[in-house]
Amino acid sequence: MQKDLLDILVCPMCKSELQLSSEEIIDEEIISGLLSCDKCHEEYPITDGIPNLLPPELR
Ligand SMILES: [Zn+2]
Repeated sequence: MQKDLLDILVCPMCKSELQLSSEEIIDEEIISGLLSCDKCHEEYPITDGIPNLLPPELR
């Protein structure tokens, strides 16, 4: 996913902003990483450039 996408991604549970950590970025594209929500402490992985924003119970 493009780095710019981070600005519009929100937590699917509480709609607050997500923090990116342990990211691997190549040419402005986030290849892998971990999106975490400060509010509900949920974590969403990015694998192969695709963020998995499904709520935990739907994975
Ligand atoms: Zn949240």
